[in-house]
Amino acid sequence: MTKPQIGRMLVVGLGLIGGSLAMAARRWDLVGEVWAVNRSRPSLDFALQQGIVDRVAQDAETLLPELGPGDVVVIGVPVLAVGPLLEQLARSLSPEVTVTDVGSTKGWLVQEAQRVWGKLPEALVPSHPIAGSEKSGVQAAHSDLFVDHRVIITPTGYESRRHRECVEELWKGVGARIDLMSPEHHDEILGATSHLPHVLAFVLVDLLASMDEKREVLKYAAGGFRDFTRIASSDPLMWRDIMIANRAAISESIDRFEQHLDELKDALASESEVRLMKMFQRAQATRNAFVRQSEKNRAGE
Ligand code: NAP
Repeated sequence: MTKPQIGRMLVVGLGLIGGSLAMAARRWDLVGEVWAVNRSRPSLDFALQQGIVDRVAQDAETLLPELGPGDVVVIGVPVLAVGPLLEQLARSLSPEVTVTDVGSTKGWLVQEAQRVWGKLPEALVPSHPIAGSEKSGVQAAHSDLFVDHRVIITPTGYESRRHRECVEELWKGVGARIDLMSPEHHDEILGATSHLPHVLAFVLVDLLASMDEKREVLKYAAGGFRDFTRIASSDPLMWRDIMIANRAAISESIDRFEQHLDELKDALASESEVRLMKMFQRAQATRNAFVRQSEKNRAGE
């Protein structure tokens, strides 16, 4: 792990991801001080008590003007909440301060930055850690959340080398592996691999809940239901924001999913054992390869 030279790191939105980054930066001594802004007080009090942060405020305007070269702001709020925050940054933050985020969609942030600044700032380097869980809040944060996980950095093309290297070093410092891609490509890929599975889990659970005999249905729901629907316990507000921000890519993924469901329905209607077997064998082989690769990655191979 490398050590970036960061003076102060201000996390705005001290939830699961922002809180975990704060804890990790502190644990591996990557920053001089960790500051946090959060709209509600209990998370800040918790973080102070736990020694996760050095300084806190409920309003970003209190701390932003004090930051300068060598400092970093990390945006950790739900994706649709970035607009008002970027307006505060444009008003009160030195353009020397590196700005990054942890949001699950990237096109929205870039679009909002363009709207707020009228151009994309050199200091803005968007990022998305592919790590997390269905839990929320700084109370669920932990310092090794990003170890051996990928972080996708989506350069806007206008960032300066200094700011980009600072963000890369921060993520490497907390144990992550960096991938680079454009914001558009990120949203397309994550729309398929993360956002679509959440759509399916939310819709399935909602469907079962709406069935009259739901008690009977859920009574017999077992391991498969539990495995498939774990992510439907995720924060609804966070997912509302992700769905709206990435609605175009998600809608395309849903269309493709519908086409595959239609293929399955055709195979059922024609009682085609061969087509069903082909589909399931392809899926099984893909999932097994994915699990093997994940295990290798975890073992550091
Ligand atoms: P979280 O634990 O629910 O934390 C969200 C934080 O944002 C809280 O500090 C919350 O403040 C604050 N917040 C919520 N709405 C706000 C608003 N309108 N204005 C200002 N602050 C607001 O969520 P999280 O899981 O850390 O997610 C944060 C970001 O990381 C999201 O953009 C998400 O897409 C991304 N992300 C999440 C995961 C994951 O698995 N959870 C993984 C990768 C990326 P209060 O304490 O006052 O509610």
